Amino acid sequence: MLDSELKKEIKEYGVSMRRHFHQNPELGGQEFETAKRIEAELDLLGIEHERVGDTNVISTIQGKRDGKIIGLRADIDALPVQEESGVAYQSKIPGIMHACGHDGHTAALLSAAKILTARKDEIAGTVKLLFQSAEELGLGAKAIVGSGEIDNLDGLLGIHIWNDVDSGKLYIGSGEQMASPVEFRISLEGKGGHGSASHQATDTIVPLASLIMNLQSLVSMEFNPMSDVVLTIGRIFSGENEEVRLGECYNIVSGRAYLEGTLRTFNDEDTERFREKILRMVKGIEMLYGVKSELFFETRVPAVYNDPELANIGCETCVELWGEASLDKELGKCMASEDFAEYCKKTPSMMAFVGGRYEEKLKCYPHHNSRFNFDEDAIDQAAWFYAQFAIDYLNKKGR
Ligand SMILES: [Zn+2]
Ligand SMILES: [Zn+2]
Repeated sequence: MLDSELKKEIKEYGVSMRRHFHQNPELGGQEFETAKRIEAELDLLGIEHERVGDTNVISTIQGKRDGKIIGLRADIDALPVQEESGVAYQSKIPGIMHACGHDGHTAALLSAAKILTARKDEIAGTVKLLFQSAEELGLGAKAIVGSGEIDNLDGLLGIHIWNDVDSGKLYIGSGEQMASPVEFRISLEGKGGHGSASHQATDTIVPLASLIMNLQSLVSMEFNPMSDVVLTIGRIFSGENEEVRLGECYNIVSGRAYLEGTLRTFNDEDTERFREKILRMVKGIEMLYGVKSELFFETRVPAVYNDPELANIGCETCVELWGEASLDKELGKCMASEDFAEYCKKTPSMMAFVGGRYEEKLKCYPHHNSRFNFDEDAIDQAAWFYAQFAIDYLNKKGR
């Protein structure tokens, strides 16, 4: 097939696939129809594939020559969001929407499979395609790493269509890219009582308020000012029942209080430092106010770290395909997180951000918003980047 014909075909195919997945979104771990459709499309291309766990699909394209093994990863899950974008291809499933762009990633990786099949002669090694489930739940990458399926990979590329980057551009950074979120929950237990006799009770609201204020200053006082750390408390409540109506508790000293939040860091040392400090703080609150406490603390995923050598090859590929101006210089690292980080711990990996913002074409809303959408040209760009990067990597890295 002539290159121009292939280009046209890929463009149409990518958009039609994306719209199919957009209309039929499935939540993390439940992507059964999505996985079936991916397999059907791979069958049409004659590419072998296998299921890993319930809904991860891994396929292999063997090049004409022997060489290294490069992985390409797309996540395939949607979110529990009711779509309000108003587009003609809006989600048909109530309360579920592709609001992060994973429909675009899936379509782009299938398109890349088409390109790579057409250009098998140029592949000096093996390309593994990872269609990964449950990214939003932080479960899919762990399952694939745990299965041993990527043990023999020499490198891995992931892409995310990103609305903070202009359409037509890619951001490819080196080193730290996305943060590691820690989830913490603190429960306090005191003794409930009458609002008129607080001395007979042990209040938990004042110690909770103290914790809230102290947690905020912990970031400014205990972390290196050069380290990138952000702390957010997402929810608090007090009393026996979290559902009580307004005006029902004004006269009760609360015997229970609760908060939950997240801290995001870029390295394990900062996470460990936080764990020590929050533990110390909670113990201090116990002593000071005579309450009992319980602390839950969990690192959800590690930080995304881009291998500098892969990032170099990625930039070269991007410039080769679309010129120097296609490299976004502005994005930098961000505090969002991605379970792609699980792969980074295992094998040299790189996450590239493909621009989805095009304000003249469509109003841009943030990822996870019910009106989220992106410029569909990003699918085509992601597809060619996936494919060309794999070819370049295998050629450059040799046997
Ligand atoms: Zn997301
Ligand atoms: Zn995402």
